[in-house]
Amino acid sequence: MSAKVENVVIVGTGCAGLTAAIYTGRANLQPLVLEGVLPGGQLTTTSEVENFPGFPEGIDGYQLMQNLRKQAEKFGTRYESGSVQGLDTSKWPYTLKLADREILAKTVIVATGASPRLTGVPGEKELYGGKGVTTCATCDGAFYRKMDVAVIGGGDSAAEEALFLTRFASKVYLVHRRDSLRASKIMADRATSHPKIECVWDSLPVAIEGVAAGAVSGLKIRHVKTGAESVLPVKGIFVAIGHVPNTEPFKGAVDTDDQGYFVPTGHSQVKTRTPGVYVAGDCADHHYRQAITAAGMGCQAAIEAERWLAGQEA
Ligand code: NAP
Repeated sequence: MSAKVENVVIVGTGCAGLTAAIYTGRANLQPLVLEGVLPGGQLTTTSEVENFPGFPEGIDGYQLMQNLRKQAEKFGTRYESGSVQGLDTSKWPYTLKLADREILAKTVIVATGASPRLTGVPGEKELYGGKGVTTCATCDGAFYRKMDVAVIGGGDSAAEEALFLTRFASKVYLVHRRDSLRASKIMADRATSHPKIECVWDSLPVAIEGVAAGAVSGLKIRHVKTGAESVLPVKGIFVAIGHVPNTEPFKGAVDTDDQGYFVPTGHSQVKTRTPGVYVAGDCADHHYRQAITAAGMGCQAAIEAERWLAGQEA
């Protein structure tokens, strides 16, 4: 008996992957979606999403992803868990290699997103996850009720994390390496004017203290202009300094740039040099990185996959 060949395998269940699933599902292609370690992607770790069109009151990030998942399911999407370790495009149908199995696919949409970047300073690795260092205020903020915490970063994520943490923490230090936030004006204004948030400008993290005790006791920072070092006495540290694209398993099959992002081919945002292999969302976008742009790329990738497949079968 010959092995089953999938029409479309979508790798990733963030906004890009699930939108691709809705479109390929509606096109009757019975897409198979592979779920990795963070089902629903980055939006499941965010609180309120205020800028996704169609939700004038905003929508909870987890709820939005549940809605997309249900919508894709309605059109015949199947879900399997499994992290892809490699993609062999040397012969068609292509082979996705997972730890415990291989999947044959006529087309592949890679929508693997990006993971939070860490600072790499001493103490961070030792105290990460449950010991005071985290990348997710929505997940861990409630553990820091009436405590002082620090957020590292100056983008929208850092502003959002800091604002969310004001619900629990006594004080939130927002530690940024420059003297103004990169965040959008609305988020920056909200953060800088919040009475519980103290911006610590021109400062870089040097070390996280508390390793011997097994819990964060402070964040050592250095002023970038004076070189002066000081310690912020915090119990929680939220790192929000951007993301690293999850593209490693596909290198070789899909081109990447020097930061690891997928590089599309020609004028397309989603086509790769391999016919039938498409990319979508934050793994291929270091410019916009919005939920709605990821969804848009998922839609484009799905339409390209559908048309290419129709061409093969004509
Ligand atoms: P980002 O915009 O790339 O910002 C990363 C921040 O971390 C920058 O301020 C950067 O400093 C700082 N940084 C980078 N490496 C550092 C290091 N090693 N040590 C200390 N600081 C470091 O990333 P993001 O905030 O995660 O946002 C990513 C995208 O998602 C953006 O397009 C953003 O608009 C979007 N987003 C939107 C919303 C929303 O609309 N509500 C919410 C979250 C994210 P510099 O400023 O000096 O470069």
